Amino acid sequence: MTGRTTRVVIVGGGIIGSLTALRLADAGVDVLVLDRGAPGAEASSAAAGILAAQSEATGPGALFDLAFDSRALHAELADELRGRIGVDAGFERRGVLEAARTEAEADALIAKNAWQRERALPVEVLDARGLRQREPGLAAGFVRGLWFPDDAAVDPARLVTGIVQAAARAGVQFRSGVTARRVTVRGGRARGVETDEGLLEGDAVVIAAGAWSGLVDGALGDPASVRPARGQIVELTTCPSPLRGVVFAHGGYLVPRADGRVIAGSTLEFVGYRRGVTADGIAKVLSAATRTVPSLGEAAIARTWSNFRPYTDDRVALVGPRDIEGLVIATGHHRSGILLAPVTAEIVRDLVVRGHTRRAIGALSPLRATAPLTP
Ligand SMILES: Cc1cc2nc3c(=O)[nH]c(=O)nc-3n(C[C@H](O)[C@H](O)[C@H](O)COP(=O)(O)OP(=O)(O)OC[C@H]3O[C@@H](n4cnc5c(N)ncnc54)[C@H](O)[C@@H]3O)c2cc1C
Repeated sequence: MTGRTTRVVIVGGGIIGSLTALRLADAGVDVLVLDRGAPGAEASSAAAGILAAQSEATGPGALFDLAFDSRALHAELADELRGRIGVDAGFERRGVLEAARTEAEADALIAKNAWQRERALPVEVLDARGLRQREPGLAAGFVRGLWFPDDAAVDPARLVTGIVQAAARAGVQFRSGVTARRVTVRGGRARGVETDEGLLEGDAVVIAAGAWSGLVDGALGDPASVRPARGQIVELTTCPSPLRGVVFAHGGYLVPRADGRVIAGSTLEFVGYRRGVTADGIAKVLSAATRTVPSLGEAAIARTWSNFRPYTDDRVALVGPRDIEGLVIATGHHRSGILLAPVTAEIVRDLVVRGHTRRAIGALSPLRATAPLTP
């Protein structure tokens, strides 16, 4: 996009903005990250951290390829952070199990993923006995399921903290408590951002403000193309953990952490930017959790929280150049922002530094957000 960019202003210090900043700094670019709060403190540290490249895939194609590659990049990122700053991001490849309660649900699940088996991707169909062997803590009554051994998980709070630390050490400047109001365009080119502390200039601007991206004037063609989708989560503590890997069932999911915690999620609600958890939301999450693994009924509730996924109507992220020179969008990752962060950061770095990316990102073009999105 620019070829000779020297200073990049990134709006938003979540996992997308911070990892992009790290990749740009490693490429020799001077980077300033603005965050109206603290870097990493919003959706990126609230997430469950499932790297569900295969289990959440909707079909073959460019989007699947990006998710698949990003999952592989996560293993490298975890090693990189351990080596660079000694942070353990909690990356674990323990697999994801999807368990079906009825024959109809199982048939639909298996049909939806048939293309993966045809491509010889690692996925196994399990009968009721196979499910219980894989996860002995599962409730009785699940009939069949799918096992994705290569899907993984991270601890997102630790991961994003590590990324921010590594980026700061690589020379990225973070400014917390600064809100970007609008993109400054001069001579048809993005020249920086107007903030509550005045104009901050740059040769390129990257919008990575998560669910708030549409509130930055001039960032998105249609400000409503990214909306907040609240998700509520419960953290349970058990000892020993009744789970070996991630389980999706009863419309919820369970993510075991190495230290015995189990993350149970989640709701999907359109309530604007209203923060907090609700009795209904937490009841729904806990009901799915205990119907999936009954022994979790004995677990202690350690914490509950919520945050906002950056939702787009077609549930595809907006990543790529806008129709204004020097303006790159990296937002709208909805339920998969942790998974897609490594590949997104690489794409944005290449767009900014080289002016192009080797990856197929046509489907992610932010230019589609100038018109109403089709579901
Ligand atoms: C409950 C829940 C569970 C999830 N589980 C998973 C999962 O298992 N796997 C997965 O891959 N994804 C998951 N996600 C999705 C994932 O968390 C998001 O897609 C991802 O964190 C988005 O990252 P981001 O950097 O774009 O946004 P954020 O982390 O929200 O960061 C945006 C940052 O921009 C800052 N900002 C906003 N506006 C401005 C402004 N005007 N000026 C300056 N700064 C600004 C904010 O302060 C914030 O720090 C989950 C999300 C939720 C809520």
